[in-house]
Amino acid sequence: MLKLSRTAVKNCKLLSVFKRSLTCSPNVRLSSSLLVSNCNSIKKTFTPINCAGSIRSYSNGPNAVKLTSEVYPNVHRNNHYKKLSSDDLEYFNSILSKQEIMYTGTGNNLQELDLYNEDWMKKYKGQSHLVLKPKSVEKISLILNYCNEEKLAVVPQGGNTDLVGASVPVFDEIILSLNNLNQIREFDPVSGILKCDAGVILENADNYLREHDHIFPLDLGAKGSCHVGGVCATNAGGLRLLRYGSLHGSVLGLEVVMPNGDIVSSMHSLRKDNTGYDLKQLFIGAEGTLGIITGVSILTQPKPQAINVSFLAVQNYEAVQKVFVKAKKELAEILSAFEFMDQRSIQLTKKHIEKDTPFPLEEEYPFYILIETSGSNKAHDDAKLETFLESAMESEIVIDGTIAQDETELQNLWKWREMIPESSQCQGGVYKYDVSLPLKDLYSLVEVVNKKLVEADLLGSAPKPVIAAVGYGHVGDGNLHLNVATRLYSKEIECTLEPFVYEYVSSKHGSISAEHGLGFQKKNYISYTKSEPEIKMMKDLKKHYDSNGIMNPYKFI
Ligand SMILES: Cc1cc2nc3c(=O)[nH]c(=O)nc-3n(C[C@H](O)[C@H](O)[C@H](O)COP(=O)(O)OP(=O)(O)OC[C@H]3O[C@@H](n4cnc5c(N)ncnc54)[C@H](O)[C@@H]3O)c2cc1C
Repeated sequence: MLKLSRTAVKNCKLLSVFKRSLTCSPNVRLSSSLLVSNCNSIKKTFTPINCAGSIRSYSNGPNAVKLTSEVYPNVHRNNHYKKLSSDDLEYFNSILSKQEIMYTGTGNNLQELDLYNEDWMKKYKGQSHLVLKPKSVEKISLILNYCNEEKLAVVPQGGNTDLVGASVPVFDEIILSLNNLNQIREFDPVSGILKCDAGVILENADNYLREHDHIFPLDLGAKGSCHVGGVCATNAGGLRLLRYGSLHGSVLGLEVVMPNGDIVSSMHSLRKDNTGYDLKQLFIGAEGTLGIITGVSILTQPKPQAINVSFLAVQNYEAVQKVFVKAKKELAEILSAFEFMDQRSIQLTKKHIEKDTPFPLEEEYPFYILIETSGSNKAHDDAKLETFLESAMESEIVIDGTIAQDETELQNLWKWREMIPESSQCQGGVYKYDVSLPLKDLYSLVEVVNKKLVEADLLGSAPKPVIAAVGYGHVGDGNLHLNVATRLYSKEIECTLEPFVYEYVSSKHGSISAEHGLGFQKKNYISYTKSEPEIKMMKDLKKHYDSNGIMNPYKFI
């Protein structure tokens, strides 16, 4: 690692050292004299505020997840749904093996199923006593056909990494886990088309593809747990949407079991097919409300031959936008990710991972940017990135930075972005808002929310309930993640944030859900983004294909 002496830095010197180190140093640091004069003013983070008032809480930490039905007493179980009976169990036992059923009995001992009833944020908890894990599409068809006839509500579940309370029951819905439907079906290295079961873990699919010189066209922090079917059901965006587009474009076909048990397949995988409505799109992003995705056919991408990752520091959000415009223009076809993080998100992450992953820069700055390039020619990409960074430094838009020089460093730089969700959640809870906003307004949401939390006397050191409201996200896609990290979940925080956040987003003509979906959290707020006619059309569709409403009730619409 080459460290530049900050006091000695003059831009011209810096650039020459930087240039040399691109070829000879293991981990290049960028810096500029500008940062020396500014860094002291950046050190201050949270101003401690005196605590006042009591906080109504419903959870004291990660191990005490309260039932969703208790936290939201206004949401009632719909008695149109049948309660599970011994006859139902008998039926499921007749079509499934012992390994495909988890049943706790109707007593109170639900702990065995906590993994399935509780969501990743430990914010929502259902009361299901039954998890079905069928090993074949035919069995899923039999299960749904039966549940539809008997009016038993069902929650499809993939890796259970969802962030809006969509993947866990609200009451006693049966959980249908795709965990056992996890085979790669086929891969064609000529077309790059992969066909697989919905329950294949995203990282496993990607590893398989890498062995065949390809990559999955989507990557996200939950890749070690989330399923290929789950990411389709949520239309997850992730870190490389900028380069490879959304799943609405790369998914070529789906196999879906409808609520009545019918199996509908478009797995034939044609890149061009203009014969009628593109029905698969209905299920991409439907969050399991219209059917269960059992198979996915997707266009994958050739594995890049050269990848560069740089981690840069800038002085303000204006500079983030300037670097983005410049990167699009100058890095053009090799730009594969452009992520930004504010100082507070990095401070939270430091507490969580700095012991194992040293922070790549010496100082703290107001904003950070992670740029990834992927291309087919290392020399060409290096030269392009070098020219870009030189000029960004020269014009003093970028004030510090580092470039990964090997795979380990590359992974470490990505960690500083990918670990923000976990770092925001791990101290008690997190209120997550994943929104689309015009780029010029993107960060203003974080500022107004911080102001609002201070005014409400909720933000500060313990025993104040809010640790920090941080902003980061996929600038390239106009997608901000606002995470309000808390010491506990509390109605007071929730009511301060909602519908305030949605009103603000709506006033800027944004979307209240850029990529995480609606789930339970945003069900009642869809009208902030969608018009009445659009909502009616969605409800009509739902009624038509799921007339008994058994699929993932109390959510989405
Ligand atoms: C650390 C972390 C980082 C994340 N980063 C991103 C990110 O960058 N971008 C992004 O978009 N999202 C992100 N997410 C959230 C993302 O939505 C989920 O990770 C993923 O898309 C859900 O997949 P899953 O298999 O876990 O589905 P689950 O969480 O199990 O389910 C999600 C929804 O899909 C439904 N569902 C699941 N499988 C099926 C199926 N086979 N058929 C029908 N319905 C189904 C469920 O009923 C539920 O409504 C992140 C989550 C975490 C925890």
